[in-house]
Amino acid sequence: MKFSWRVVLLWTLPLLVVGFFLWQGAFSGAPADMGRNAASTRMTYGRFLDYLDAGRVTAVDLYDGGRTAIIEAVDPELDNRLQRWRVDLPGNSPDLVSRLRESNISLDSHPPRNDGALVGALGNLLFPLLLIGGLFFLFRRSGGGAGGPGQAMSFGKSKARFMMEAKTGVMFDDVAGIDEAKEELQEVVTFLKKPERFTAIGARIPKGVLLVGPPGTGKTLLAKAIAGEAGVPFFSISGSEFVEMFVGVGASRVRDLFKKAKDNAPCIIFIDEIDAVGRQRGAGIGGGNDEREQTLNQLLTEMDGFEGNTGIIIIAATNRVDVLDSALLRPGRFDRQVTVDPPDIKGRIEVLEVHARNKKLAEDISLEAIARRTPGFTGADLANLLNEAAILTARRRKDAITMAEIDAAVDRVIAGMEGTPLVDSKSKRLIAYHEIGHAIVGTLVKDHDPVQKVTLIPRGQAQGLTWFTPSEEQMLISRAQILARITGALGGRAAEDVIFGDAEVTTGAGNDLQQVSNMARQMVTRFGMSDLGPLSLESSQGEVFLGRDWLSRSEYSEEVSSRIDAQVRVIVDQCYEEAKRLMRDNRALIDRLVDLLVERETIDGDELRQIVSEYTVVPDKQQFVPQL
Ligand code: ADP
Ligand code: ZN
Repeated sequence: MKFSWRVVLLWTLPLLVVGFFLWQGAFSGAPADMGRNAASTRMTYGRFLDYLDAGRVTAVDLYDGGRTAIIEAVDPELDNRLQRWRVDLPGNSPDLVSRLRESNISLDSHPPRNDGALVGALGNLLFPLLLIGGLFFLFRRSGGGAGGPGQAMSFGKSKARFMMEAKTGVMFDDVAGIDEAKEELQEVVTFLKKPERFTAIGARIPKGVLLVGPPGTGKTLLAKAIAGEAGVPFFSISGSEFVEMFVGVGASRVRDLFKKAKDNAPCIIFIDEIDAVGRQRGAGIGGGNDEREQTLNQLLTEMDGFEGNTGIIIIAATNRVDVLDSALLRPGRFDRQVTVDPPDIKGRIEVLEVHARNKKLAEDISLEAIARRTPGFTGADLANLLNEAAILTARRRKDAITMAEIDAAVDRVIAGMEGTPLVDSKSKRLIAYHEIGHAIVGTLVKDHDPVQKVTLIPRGQAQGLTWFTPSEEQMLISRAQILARITGALGGRAAEDVIFGDAEVTTGAGNDLQQVSNMARQMVTRFGMSDLGPLSLESSQGEVFLGRDWLSRSEYSEEVSSRIDAQVRVIVDQCYEEAKRLMRDNRALIDRLVDLLVERETIDGDELRQIVSEYTVVPDKQQFVPQL
């Protein structure tokens, strides 16, 4: 019998490819059927009901005869993005179904999948079975013409992952607090509605607009508002959707997207997180990433391929223009950039007004007071804040949101979920000393933001928290202010150290110390606030994984680097000594505050200052308060 190795090779190669492909399918394909990310995030039934009450849920897919659901809802913890969760339902619940239908939530039911049992029964047989399945498949295909490894690739033909909204229903009125960006984009609406006005005089209508700003500032909302105002369809996809395991899938998605868009012109194409595909080519560690490059090239080709007056305008969003491939920013591509910043206090009031429209607020609520408490909040944070407050109000069975719910919601949005306080114990006292340490420094150091409250009620990762009244983010922060913050951050550890001795200090200060190092390092390397003199030794952006600036780091010598370390050390040591001195000098005061805190769990700022003033002089704080 003649045995040909050539045949064996010819067959095993594609076999492996196919086998691998289906193996992939077995793990990532099946859960994909149950909603992406489904397996990883679970939501409790109670939380789901809360979300339902709050109108956050947009779609529910039932599985396992109604015992499991994959729900789609906006996630307040993730900038109000659409997220999927898995919810275990308490058996078959017809009430729920009718309720979902009433609220007009997209509802679907999927037949029970018996492959769970199948997988269990067949166990290890699965892999050979898949291989055999692949083999049959291959036979049939190769019978039809060209076979070979190339064939397997066409399995990857894109399933369109983009979304289309014929009418977004969002108007410029719904976007608040970012007036400059809005003004810039007003023109884009005119491009879409009355292109003749521009083309008649030979003006080239821009094809691409890049929205640059941190997550949650309303970039998606703005893009939708443009589509809404112009009355055109809105196509959207996220850059991360392009980037797939298999070379060519992303590129074919781009092709599909543009084809659909051309059929529906005039329209808006919105690409979120464009940096996921649009990074500088050939810059990643370990060479290029073929798939990403192909996708990016396809995107560039498509953008060049249509005339400016086709009526398609591409809006892309990113937080990192600096890592984008420069080809993307060339004329004729994303040549317009619009910055979208978190709103200032006036902007925050406007955003709150927009989101308060459909909520019942009690008389005592002042949107201005909320805006003052929330510097640095983005539009999404504020929307989320009001929503959290509304949920809390419903849970407390009140008819209108009061300041109490708002305050609880602010705390929650900033610091996470509230936990149960510890019972009185050694560790509770230790945490109390730690927090009072922060609070004492915050109160006694002149340039520190004033203490708003100290609490031992855990939130998120933290067992205790000291809150400071935030001053509106200033453009300029003085050296004295940074030193005050460093000293304040060291206050917790200083208290542990002075009161319990250095053998007893805890890991509780880990987070504080990280901030301390960051601030001290920046003083030296960025702001020229050390003996090294006014030199900038580092770029302002943090390092980016696989990004361009990874390559250009450490522009300075070993020697400079060790001088930086030495300066950082000097700053931190000085601040730590000062913090410890404050602890030693105020021992009686600290003991009294700790007793009070352990007993009451929360002390607010005014009371704290009152008690401190019985022992020592409380310096006057001049905080920057923006005028409206
Ligand atoms: P981004 O795309 O910048 O990450 P989004 O546009 O997705 O942010 O914002 C998420 C949600 O937050 C919006 O749907 C909206 O409810 C709210 N939001 C964000 N910015 C604003 C704003 N400027 N005005 C009103 N609402 C906003
Ligand atoms: Zn601390």
